[in-house]
Amino acid sequence: NVSLILLINLVIIMLTNAIIITTHHPCSAFHASTEISNNLVCDNFTLTLASTDFGLTIHEKPLAVLEPTSITEISELIKVSNSLSTPFTIAARGQAHSVHGQAMAREGIVVNMTHLNGYRHGKGVVIFRDEKDLWNSYADVGGEQVWSDVLNAALEYGLTPLSWTDNLFTSVGGTLVNAGVGGQTFKFGPQIANVYELDVITGKGDLKTCSAEKNSKLFYGVLGGLGQFGIITRARIALGPAYTKVKSLRLLYSDFSAYSKDQEYLISLNGRNDNAFDAVEGFLMINQWPNIISFFPTQDLPRINSLLAQHNILYVLELAKYYDNTTQDQIDQVVERLVTGLKYVPTFKYEKDVLYQNFLHSSENPGGFPEGPQSWLDIFVPGSRISDINEGVFKNIIFKQNLTANGIILAFPMNRTKWNDKMSVAIPDEQVFYLVSVLQTVTYDTLKTFDDQKNQILEFCKDSGIGIKQYLPRNKTHEEWIQHFGPKWQNFKDTKNKFDPKRILAPGQGIFN
Ligand code: FAD
Repeated sequence: NVSLILLINLVIIMLTNAIIITTHHPCSAFHASTEISNNLVCDNFTLTLASTDFGLTIHEKPLAVLEPTSITEISELIKVSNSLSTPFTIAARGQAHSVHGQAMAREGIVVNMTHLNGYRHGKGVVIFRDEKDLWNSYADVGGEQVWSDVLNAALEYGLTPLSWTDNLFTSVGGTLVNAGVGGQTFKFGPQIANVYELDVITGKGDLKTCSAEKNSKLFYGVLGGLGQFGIITRARIALGPAYTKVKSLRLLYSDFSAYSKDQEYLISLNGRNDNAFDAVEGFLMINQWPNIISFFPTQDLPRINSLLAQHNILYVLELAKYYDNTTQDQIDQVVERLVTGLKYVPTFKYEKDVLYQNFLHSSENPGGFPEGPQSWLDIFVPGSRISDINEGVFKNIIFKQNLTANGIILAFPMNRTKWNDKMSVAIPDEQVFYLVSVLQTVTYDTLKTFDDQKNQILEFCKDSGIGIKQYLPRNKTHEEWIQHFGPKWQNFKDTKNKFDPKRILAPGQGIFN
């Protein structure tokens, strides 16, 4: 009897402890109820990593990190959250190349998507090459895969994705919830315009396949939808024939108007033939951004510096022409014809021949982004107001304030016709609009000064009535989000209510939480 009483007491003590553990220990909270518990990790190192991103300025600690070994586990996790009276939030984390905590989940669960690599058994990227028409080829890609792996797999079949960003080490899912813009956007649209189909786990935990024809509300919602409606586990990415080489050019302008006119002319030539460049980008050269000069021959640096000193700001037009079997002479002629009539400063034309994959990789980290806190602002600017940005932002704010940091300022246009307005991403309502990105690596001491400068830029745009849209948007109040999405807001909200009614997903974007 005594031992029976002891045993009962022990069970009571164990149960009490179990309840305490269940209440206070996030990993234990799921032990009894689901199979996913084994892959929930709560050690300090993992939690610290999940509360850090490329930006190094925001740190939101989750309760736990799911290191999934299957897609079903992610679905189950979302279902567990849905079943609770107070659901926990869940953030997919691709490569955490966000700079503003977008892939974090304070007191929620972060899903470390890279762990799906094990589940794929080396089949994260599967290529389908259409021999009859290479332009119909595609890649089925895990949402956690990085673009450089998609490139490598496609190249083995003589194929390539069509649209790129400047960073090949972001995940496919992570860019598709934004847009994915770069030098090819003018021609093929952003990366989201080059997707045929998606597998998505919705905010209710349902795994759905969607495309323009099937579950189209989900498909269009997810593309550019800032992770609000579902977690992408597979994307079918458009491929086309690959090239082996690239003629890469940089032309220097001292006059912004000539620079932007030439850019707009070049993006109006967007055929898939010798009559157009394959990539058009551009950046500013201001004294405080020295890293970007590595492209230029050392012996020319003094005269470039003297041109810069004379004009304060130089605008660097970046162009690329892909080629394959063409002889060197032929490609030189094609390029010469394409640049004829452009109004760059005479003799300030530089070119290199590089391998196709090296070209795509070399545009990554163009400013060399060393590790450190990042102060970033990306905006889409209507083409009709880009000269106001030059005067009001480049000259009157950035040049005048003369803050010193590593980084880069990008300014290049794209064609709205290459975007699909059904997709969630917010863009200006003009046929041509620019990406203007002010991307700087700073120190913790100077971070506030640089962020203040970004806010001044936003204020200038607001006061001047320039209808910009933020890309990779950040720090918005609810009202500002409504304004950001404009006519798309109602549909955005309806899509959220339909696919993530408990507002579980991607809390780091700060839209519904
Ligand atoms: P994360 O930072 O991990 O996540 C970003 C958001 O996506 C989060 O809300 C997250 O929850 C969500 N998410 C992640 N995976 C999934 C998924 N599978 N399904 C659904 N939601 C998901 N962008 C451009 O467009 N063009 C550029 O040229 C460019 N250059 C860059 C250069 C550098 C050096 C860096 C750091 C970033 C650059 N970016 C550029 C921005 C980058 O594309 C985005 O920050 C992108 O979100 C990063 O992908 P990620 O895998 O790191 O996403």
